[in-house]
Amino acid sequence: MKNNYMPLHKSLLALVLPLFFLVSCATVPITGRSQLNLVSSSSMLSMSNAQYNTFLRNNKLSSNRTETARVKRVGKKLERAVEQYFRQRGLGSELRQYRWEYNLIKNKSPNAWCMPGGKIAVYTGILPYTRTDAGLAVVMAHEIAHAVAKHGNERMSQMLLTEMGGAALSSALNSYPTKTRKLWLSAFGVGSKVGILLPYSRIQEYEADRIGLIFMAIAGYNPNEAIGFWKRMSKGSKGGKPPEFLSTHPADASRIRQIRNAIPDAMKYYRK
Ligand SMILES: [Zn+2]
Repeated sequence: MKNNYMPLHKSLLALVLPLFFLVSCATVPITGRSQLNLVSSSSMLSMSNAQYNTFLRNNKLSSNRTETARVKRVGKKLERAVEQYFRQRGLGSELRQYRWEYNLIKNKSPNAWCMPGGKIAVYTGILPYTRTDAGLAVVMAHEIAHAVAKHGNERMSQMLLTEMGGAALSSALNSYPTKTRKLWLSAFGVGSKVGILLPYSRIQEYEADRIGLIFMAIAGYNPNEAIGFWKRMSKGSKGGKPPEFLSTHPADASRIRQIRNAIPDAMKYYRK
């Protein structure tokens, strides 16, 4: 016969854990998935501003005017699309503290990321894969989707729990500034230079793909362009060292299949 009684410590945990998650869970704005969120938006945003400015000081901007203009043009259109999407759903306040910035960084590694508050970096190394405005919109919209779905926040919360015993971001920053900064940079995919490469979870990746396709469609870019971009990425990974972006963003057949499945929904938002 099955024993229906749990040992005391387990039943206590069962009682306490849901309470813990109740107070520390947030909901992803678009998909409705609930997520762990231990860090307040305001501390995420202030850390984001500081880390983005430090990054810009320590890295070179591209001197290619055409490509820089492309990043700014696509970024601006996506910014408007995201704000429109949130406003129409009564969620405008979620983005009130966003101060969007989009910069093209001179760096051969194919990479792109977006920190909370709309702080975006595109590396020149990803341009051979994006090729056009629409191709670039695939990557930027995907990264913006990670940010507005608070995936970095979720990752930072998980790392504060596992690496720092659940310390608050501000006290972690005071006690272990270097380690906290490294965790932060890896949470946002800033790069292997910090020594930790942390892929987003499959759930987060799928969510960012789905949301990103909608954002690019609203901005006037055809979501079907996503297939070509991911195929070029997956070809680029064959032979030699895979691009850094691919080690955090596997471009395999199952990803491309899921993107294909999400395109009809995104096409409802597409206006040429
Ligand atoms: Zn991603």
